Amino acid sequence: MQTYKAPLRDMRFLLHEVFDGTALASRPGEESLAPDLIDSILEEAGRFVEEVLAPLNASGDEEGCHYENGVVRTPKGFKAAYDLFREGGWTALACDPEYGGQGLPECVNKLVEEMICSANLSFSLYPGLSRGAYQALRDHGTEELKRRFLPKLASGVWSGTMCLTEPHCGTDLGMLRTRAVPQEDGSYLLSGNKIFISAGEHDLTENIIHLVLARLPDAPAGSRGISLFLVPKFLPDEQDRPDARNGVLCTAIEHKMGIKASATCQLTFENAKGWLVGAPHRGLAAMFTMMNSERLSVGIQGLAIGEAAYQSAVAYARERIQGRSLSGTKNPDQPADPIIVHPDVRRMLLTMRAYAEGCRALGLWVAQALDTIERSAEPAAREKAEDFTALMTPIVKALFTDLGFEAANLAVQVYGGHGYIRDHGVEQYVRDARIAMIYEGTNGIQALDLVGRKLGAHYGRLLRGFFHPVAAFIAAHKEDAAIGKMVHGLEKAFGALQLATAHIAEAGMRDPEEAGAAASEYLRLFGLVALGFMWARMAKTAAAKLANGADEPAFYHAKLTTARFTMERLLPQAGALYLAIKSGKHAMMALEEAAF
Ligand SMILES: Cc1cc2nc3c(=O)[nH]c(=O)nc-3n(C[C@H](O)[C@H](O)[C@H](O)COP(=O)(O)OP(=O)(O)OC[C@H]3O[C@@H](n4cnc5c(N)ncnc54)[C@H](O)[C@@H]3O)c2cc1C
Repeated sequence: MQTYKAPLRDMRFLLHEVFDGTALASRPGEESLAPDLIDSILEEAGRFVEEVLAPLNASGDEEGCHYENGVVRTPKGFKAAYDLFREGGWTALACDPEYGGQGLPECVNKLVEEMICSANLSFSLYPGLSRGAYQALRDHGTEELKRRFLPKLASGVWSGTMCLTEPHCGTDLGMLRTRAVPQEDGSYLLSGNKIFISAGEHDLTENIIHLVLARLPDAPAGSRGISLFLVPKFLPDEQDRPDARNGVLCTAIEHKMGIKASATCQLTFENAKGWLVGAPHRGLAAMFTMMNSERLSVGIQGLAIGEAAYQSAVAYARERIQGRSLSGTKNPDQPADPIIVHPDVRRMLLTMRAYAEGCRALGLWVAQALDTIERSAEPAAREKAEDFTALMTPIVKALFTDLGFEAANLAVQVYGGHGYIRDHGVEQYVRDARIAMIYEGTNGIQALDLVGRKLGAHYGRLLRGFFHPVAAFIAAHKEDAAIGKMVHGLEKAFGALQLATAHIAEAGMRDPEEAGAAASEYLRLFGLVALGFMWARMAKTAAAKLANGADEPAFYHAKLTTARFTMERLLPQAGALYLAIKSGKHAMMALEEAAF
């Protein structure tokens, strides 16, 4: 059985005790969102996902989506669940009040997103893509497009997609062929084929708004000749009701490894009417608004699956009895002890826990920066937050999804053979988690973005937003009686990261292939240090709470113990990663292509 309870206590700990999330979240001149209000929203979201979405996770996986003559049906129960989701206002949570949204900050929205993804990753993709489409349209659309389409996306009666991928081009979007021909009325007619389009066709909403990358007739070759268009499935009438069917057709859905209840569609555009979003030939820049938002959300998917897998594995490890504890029988009334007594099982459980709680903290730190970008009146604060988000986006996307997949895999291992068979549902987590490492730019491409674009940007300015607070924290706490030893572990790993950064800056300048060869290990090293920093901050808060005689000492002790585990058992990997990075490209590039 998949086990999932929304981790509300941990969310409250982060929001109210580690970060001052609610203060940052308020708009200038607005009252701070009261912590009680945020807590009750999170509780309500937790209840909804546990009662409505989680029960459809395994059945949706079993049944999958159905395709017939261009029509896609989602699995049983999905439509009713989506209606409840929409009526509950969940699609509008972080949308702007002027378009019917609730205007809640990202740091609350991302926590809700996590719960939705833990409960049912396939379901999450339907409203998930709408959120990215909403943001791209809000930031780059004309007033007319915003007025007509944003309220529909916010209310969830219409949903969104992002249409980039074509059969011959995935990563290299410069090769895309879909064409857009300008019409006299200011609209465009689009023709071409897109594949792998999540939520490209389904029965949950009355209309679907595709954001499509295509080329204008006079477009220069490559990625500088791509424009962004809004193409609805049904063209809206004067009252903005879905009217004539547009020339976009779903020709098939993909049969795939996981997220089987999410419709992954092949779409054909045949003289489909659309409107330009943003400037001609500047579509990739506009689409990046959507892609950056989606990249953070995909990272949250990884964390979410890791959390769900962890909870299932703990429940199983408590009840499965096998063997005796190495330190003496723990369960004399039974023929064996529960497997949670064994060090190796604990290694797996604690690794999963360190990943999930560490990633949640890191995700929240980044979400706060998103709120600063949106809401701060201070240009300098906004610039700092933009730098930080730009730096951390590839790390959140790739690290969280790598760790989420590792955690799902560990959950199967905790279950042994019972994890590999379908009955318990943890193998679904492995299959579902796998895609998050691929879509929204593969994790390899995220690593290249980090070393190729982010490190060197503005002569290394982006790094300050991470390096300065880590260095300041280490200096302030390395002699601390309660957490000083842990901070030493962080200091060592941070030292490896600084050396690796200097190495890549120097070697990459000389030879870009050197940076490419080091990129994935560098992202992992950076991510490990970021997790270590989050755990050090959580440990500091927990130690202070215990020193002040806080309620729930077991919660804070568990935080301190998991922080220690992170520093002692996970962070030492930093040294090995540094050595691999420093070894250079030779071993990777020396083999002739024919010798593979
Ligand atoms: C279930 C699912 C849902 C999806 N949803 C959407 C969607 O909603 N909208 C959409 O537009 N797309 C969607 N995609 C497509 C997805 O984003 C692409 O599959 C992904 O970006 C990778 O492109 P590709 O599959 O063509 O792989 P390729 O680009 O062919 O890459 C293959 C391998 O080569 C590596 N590689 C490629 N170029 C480089 C390089 N320059 N340097 C180093 N390594 C490189 C990649 O990292 C990868 O390991 C979806 C895909 C799936 C499977």
